[in-house]
Amino acid sequence: MKYHTYNIITIGCQMNKSDSERIAAYFEEQGMREEEDKYRADVVVLTTCGVRQSAEDRVYGFVPRIKKENPSCFLIITGCLSERNDVKKRLKDKVDLWIPIGDIINIKNQITNKLQIPNSKQDNCGYLELEAKYSSKFKAFVPIGNGCNNYCSYCVVPYARGREKYRSAETIINEVKGLVRGGYREITLIAQNVNSYIDGRQQAADSRKFGFPRLLNEIDDIPGEFWLRFATSHPKDMSDELIDVIAKCEHLCEHVHLPAQAGDNAVLKAMNRGYTIEHYIELINNLRRKINTRINRAINRTNKSRNYFAAPLSITTDIIVGFPGETKEQFVNTAKLFKEVKFDMAYIAQYSPRPGTAAVKLVDDVPKQEKKRREEALMKILRKTALENNKKYIKKTVEVLIEGKNKHGDWYGMTRTNKNVRIDSRQQTADSRNLLGQFVNVKIIEIREFGMRGELI
Ligand code: SAH
Ligand code: SF4
Repeated sequence: MKYHTYNIITIGCQMNKSDSERIAAYFEEQGMREEEDKYRADVVVLTTCGVRQSAEDRVYGFVPRIKKENPSCFLIITGCLSERNDVKKRLKDKVDLWIPIGDIINIKNQITNKLQIPNSKQDNCGYLELEAKYSSKFKAFVPIGNGCNNYCSYCVVPYARGREKYRSAETIINEVKGLVRGGYREITLIAQNVNSYIDGRQQAADSRKFGFPRLLNEIDDIPGEFWLRFATSHPKDMSDELIDVIAKCEHLCEHVHLPAQAGDNAVLKAMNRGYTIEHYIELINNLRRKINTRINRAINRTNKSRNYFAAPLSITTDIIVGFPGETKEQFVNTAKLFKEVKFDMAYIAQYSPRPGTAAVKLVDDVPKQEKKRREEALMKILRKTALENNKKYIKKTVEVLIEGKNKHGDWYGMTRTNKNVRIDSRQQTADSRNLLGQFVNVKIIEIREFGMRGELI
């Protein structure tokens, strides 16, 4: 049978979204067309996530439903669950092909021959050189590498994605240049731990290191009007050199996502995170001090509006509550961290044991109800600090990249500091331009914890 249409379902992180964009480009190259309805597509791909049980459960929901509604489809599973034997066993009659993400480079042969063809070079990064079909015309994720060497005790990623392997700086820079030439306004460099990037060509020879600070510098030097972001940074690898470079690069947005995971040193140790909370706080203080002093300069360069607001660095984090053995006192230290750092946003997860990790051997002894209580307690502090941080924006003018229009007809977008901004539709009738993918100046009228409303200037 010849396949004409495809549909890709992506679960999980930005890296999975980016992987799906590379898989989509392959199908397009074969002359296939995207079919929005997964129950009608000839080929359905599920890019899976194994980080939490809830993400895994979505796959157990999707697969039988797709095979029931669309029995003739060719169903492929890739991503983090594609090498888990227990998952394979559970879904074996319903899945036509399992492709570990690094083997996507052979996707053509695999689909044509309906065969699993392991990547002979054990290279989990080569596939990143495949072209991508970016899902947006103005925002793009550019993967700089794949895999993780850190083995945080709760985390499945090093098992699912293999060891760290990075692309050459040259191919990354060329991809970014191409995007900027094509009018892209926001580029996000992604890897499991961008801070340990080293130019792929030089991974063997440690002399003449080309690390993440130099990569940022070189990308920042690309001429054009674009914002630059990166994710994710591991606190143990955030060097002073990197902080200085972040503070200097003017395309780089004033937002850093720095996952703390916990606010207690004993818990951090049990998580195998490799830093203390004192070190984490010192990093935040250095980032704030150095970046906030250069913000006015960047603003002057990118925006001449007189009332333009020098929004301070925004800081976001990931936290796990209820790690095995986390006592109430230890949790209180995480709550203290929230009060001290005053995060702008936090992605708080209740611990869930993952097969194959070191922590799965520990007793998951914090009851579900208590995990929920801890999550809610942190959310309560977060709402307060985020609201307090956002108060600084009232009546100020900020630059917003417009990302879309909601069902009420209001344009919405993001600030450099990653704050959601909605623009009043009443005001837009006076300005009926298509603003999608444009930088606009917005005067903030009203703020909430996780969003703001404003009017076009
Ligand atoms: N590379 C990134 C994180 C990847 S996983 C980093 O180092 O920060 C994304 C997030 O999922 C993690 O930051 C963590 O907060 C959460 N997570 C990972 N494993 C988890 C588990 N077993 N239970 C609950 N949350 C988990
Ligand atoms: Fe997982 Fe830790 Fe690697 Fe992040 S750094 S992907 S949390 S093992």
